Amino acid sequence: MSLLSGKVRERMEELSIKFARQLPDKVRELRAAVSRVQANGERDDNLEAVRGLAHKLAGSGSTFGFKDVSAVARRIEHHAGALLDGNDPEDDLGTLMSELETAARKPQASTKISLLESATMEEVEPSEDGYRERLVLLWLVDEATRNDLYHQLGFFGFPVECIDGPKTIEDRVGGDQQVIVIIDVNVIRDDDECRRMLPQLKDSYSDRLSIIFVSEADTYDVRLSAVRFGGDAFFASPLDISQLIDATESLASRNEARPYHVLVVDDDPDQVSYLALTLQKAGMLTAVATDPRNVFEILVEEKPELILMDMYMPGATGVELAKLIRQQEAYVGIPIIFLSVETDPLKQFRAISQGGDDFISKPVDPIALVNAVRIRAERTRSMRFFMERDSLTGLLNHSNLREKLGQELQRAERMGHSLCFAMIDLDNFKSVNDTYGHLTGDRVLKSLARLLQERLRRTDIIGRYGGEEFGVILFDTTARDAARIMGEIRETFSQVRQQAGERDFYVTLSCGIAGFPAYGTMNELTEAADSSLYEAKEAGRDLVVTARE
Ligand code: GH3
Ligand code: MG
Ligand code: MG
Repeated sequence: MSLLSGKVRERMEELSIKFARQLPDKVRELRAAVSRVQANGERDDNLEAVRGLAHKLAGSGSTFGFKDVSAVARRIEHHAGALLDGNDPEDDLGTLMSELETAARKPQASTKISLLESATMEEVEPSEDGYRERLVLLWLVDEATRNDLYHQLGFFGFPVECIDGPKTIEDRVGGDQQVIVIIDVNVIRDDDECRRMLPQLKDSYSDRLSIIFVSEADTYDVRLSAVRFGGDAFFASPLDISQLIDATESLASRNEARPYHVLVVDDDPDQVSYLALTLQKAGMLTAVATDPRNVFEILVEEKPELILMDMYMPGATGVELAKLIRQQEAYVGIPIIFLSVETDPLKQFRAISQGGDDFISKPVDPIALVNAVRIRAERTRSMRFFMERDSLTGLLNHSNLREKLGQELQRAERMGHSLCFAMIDLDNFKSVNDTYGHLTGDRVLKSLARLLQERLRRTDIIGRYGGEEFGVILFDTTARDAARIMGEIRETFSQVRQQAGERDFYVTLSCGIAGFPAYGTMNELTEAADSSLYEAKEAGRDLVVTARE
């Protein structure tokens, strides 16, 4: 068992013990509220207080294994609800309260919370950015191809190693990295050991080993044997490097699922902790709010992909809060799952029709919760991807890049950090299109997008500003460092071989950089970057120019 799940388990047990310890106080608090109803008559504010306290107790009681407490508390909640609605409830409030006190004194058969009982739930280590190291192993017979590929892959930031035996594959794949083997089909023909080991390795390490076959010959039989020996992709000569790099990249990122980000809103801190821990145990990241008023700030700052929300909180009900959230265009699509001890299907249905996407009853079954969250968060993620991104390059589109720039500027200001904006424009790109055709031009654009993604930090924000223009936001970076980084990218890009059928050619780029705080607003920053870019073009292109500070 991993260290982390041990910690989560400990935290869960702590929460459960804490709840048991605080239970007498919570019951006393409810008793006081019931007494106020009995003394002052059935005034709305007194009844609201009883309902609220009983509701919380019903929810956390069931979560932490106090089933009897939860059941009686729920009856008290409904009792107060009926009185508030002007109905005449059957039971007597005082009797119910005494029942609750008895239930709370009774030792519980099991104070184990439901998560601890569920042995079937898959445990996942959450990771900050879900990023795994990758390594490319080249096993090619032809020396010229090998050297060429070695350099071209290197430009895109892939660590590359040349190998000549299956032992190295076994060695490397045992680590925590994603391994992509690019291997000549002839090797499996000639090497018995490789023929034996490759399918075995592929079987044992399918989550981290990818195999790309390359071949001089392109026949049905050759392709079939590549598949049989575990090939994920096949390339025939002459090798199209940019397609090979595309395949390498998509294989390398295939298993790099970023953890889902969930916001949990519940006024009960213990409930919040329980839910957050359950999700963390499944490898997700969580933000929590015990006050509905904090929800909006968290939405802006943390961009969760789903909201898990208690139905009944003082200050605002879940349905009201959902409406407030949906009123804002940016959050129209965010899934909201309501949580409640409510079991009445009609009420559940009403909650869903008023802005929720799903309804989960307390006590929450951890597996059902995690599954419901996963399915909906995945949908948000793919929807966001297509809404925010340019379809050719997969980079942020113009409006989202500008939106991000605004946010990052605010963040830089608040934290007292520097920030740079770099604008990149391909040189003489019109003539690339004119000479090699528009499709080849598109592939050049993709190769630059890929280079930027591989070479910049994960935290840098990259967008397609328009046509053959790109924009990059480098957070916490001085203009001087930005100039160095972009200078390296300019240099590397000029060496990336572009291909149009049998013809090879090279493309260069020009770049203009402006830094915050020297340029204090978004407009000043983008205008300064743009004029620097213009200067770079004037000075002959294939150049990086930084705006004067
Ligand atoms: P300069 O060095 O001054 O930037 O010269 P340039 O030829 O790159 O600049 P110009 O603005 O004259 O031409 C830009 C070209 O980029 C024209 C347009 O056809 C091409 N372009 C814009 N978007 C795309 C695209 O999505 N795909 C392709 N293939 N070409 C594009
Ligand atoms: Mg251009
Ligand atoms: Mg242009």
